[in-house]
Amino acid sequence: MIERVNNLESRNLELREQLRQVEADKRYIETQKIRFEREVRKLKSESEQLRSPPLIIGNVVDVVDSSRVIVRSSAGPKFLVRSSPSINPDDLKAGARCTLNQQSLAIVELLPSSFDAQVYGMELVDSPQENYTDIGGLSKQINEIREAVELPLKRPELFTRIGIEPPKGVLLYGPPGTGKTLLAKAVAHETNAHFMRVVGSELVQKYIGEGARLVRELFDLAKKKAPTIIFIDEIDAVGASRTEANTSGDREVQRTLMQLLAGMDGFETRGDVKIIGATNRIDILDKALLRPGRFDRIIEIPLPDGEGRLSILKVHTRGLTVDESVDLVEVASMTEGRNGADLRAICMEAGMFAIRNDREAITRSDFLAAIEKVRIDFSRPVSDVEGRMFA
Ligand code: ATP
Repeated sequence: MIERVNNLESRNLELREQLRQVEADKRYIETQKIRFEREVRKLKSESEQLRSPPLIIGNVVDVVDSSRVIVRSSAGPKFLVRSSPSINPDDLKAGARCTLNQQSLAIVELLPSSFDAQVYGMELVDSPQENYTDIGGLSKQINEIREAVELPLKRPELFTRIGIEPPKGVLLYGPPGTGKTLLAKAVAHETNAHFMRVVGSELVQKYIGEGARLVRELFDLAKKKAPTIIFIDEIDAVGASRTEANTSGDREVQRTLMQLLAGMDGFETRGDVKIIGATNRIDILDKALLRPGRFDRIIEIPLPDGEGRLSILKVHTRGLTVDESVDLVEVASMTEGRNGADLRAICMEAGMFAIRNDREAITRSDFLAAIEKVRIDFSRPVSDVEGRMFA
C-alpha cells in the first residue's frame, strides 16, 4: 500500500515537472510568435515601399486649364498631363519642378524650387554629437582618418609647407554595423564641420533622371556650407564597375557615377570639403573611384576582435547601472562574430531585462539572457535589431 502511495507521489512529481516544462515551452513559443508576427509586419511594409514605383522628375511648361498641364519630363519630351487633385492649382506655374507618375505622367507633387536636402531624404547635421570616445576599438583606423581628413581641415598649412596633397576622399569598407557612419560623424564633430549623409542607392533610385543633378547640387551645397564632410553610404550602388549599360537604370547609375567623379575632380585638395565613402562591397567598386585624387585612402573597418568588443561594450555600458557580477571581459568572449551594432543591442537588451525584473542594476544573468536573445535574432540584417528593439 505504502509503496503504491510512493509510486503515485513520484509519478505526480514527474507530471508536475513535465507540466512546468511544457508551460515554459509554451511561453517561449508565444514570445517567438509575437516576434515573428512583428517581423512579418515589418517586412510587409518594407515590401510595399519597395513596390511603390519611382517618380519621374519634370518641369511645368504651361498650364492649359485648372486640370491640364503641359510638362517636360527630365528625359526630354513634352506631354499634356493631369495633375493630382491634392495640388493647389495656384501653385502650378510654368517652370515649377514636379514629380510625375511613371505610367500616366500625371503630376504627383510639386518640388521646392531650390535644393532641399530633406526632399532627398538626406541627413544634414550642423555638427554631430558623436566623438572619438564613443567609438570602441578601431584606434588604428581613427588615427588614419584623423591624419587624412581631420589634419588637412584643421591645419592645412602643414600640407602647404611640405608641399604634399592631402587625400580628397577616404573610403571606409567592411561589414555592416561596424561603426563606419559613427567614425565619419566623429570626424565631423572634431572638425566642427557640417555632416551630410547620402545613401548611394537612394541617389540612383529615388528620382529617375535626377541622380546626377542631385550629386551636383550636393557638392554645391557642401561648398556653401564648408567645412563639410560628405558621407556617401552604400557607395557601391553608384560606383559599381561600369559594365555594358543596357537598361535605362544602368545608364542612370553611370550618369550619377560620372557626376560624382566630376564633383571630386572639381574639388580643391586643400579645400574644406572632404568626402568619406562607405561600402560593404569594395570588390565591386569601379576602379575609377579609387584613383589618386579621388578616394585615395582606403581604410578597412573589420568586425571587432575580443579587445575591440570589450572596448565597444565599455562605451555602451558607460551610462548604465551595472552590478559587480557583470564581467565585460566574459561578455566580450561570449560575443565572437558580433558587430558593434549587435553589442549595443545586447547592452540595451540587458537593461530591458533588468527593468522587466524590477532590478536596481543590470546583472550577469541579464547579459546572458540578452546575448541569447540577440543570438536568436541573429539571422536578420543588423539594422533590424535596432528597429525591432525600439519598435
Ligand atoms: P552600415 O554599413 O550598415 O551603414 P556602419 O558600419 O555604418 O553600418 P554604424 O551605423 O556606424 O555602422 O553602426 C551602428 C551603431 O552600432 C552605431 O550607431 C553604434 O551605436 C554601434 N557601433 C558600431 N560600431 C561601433 C564601435 N566600434 N564602437 C561603438 N559603437 C559602435
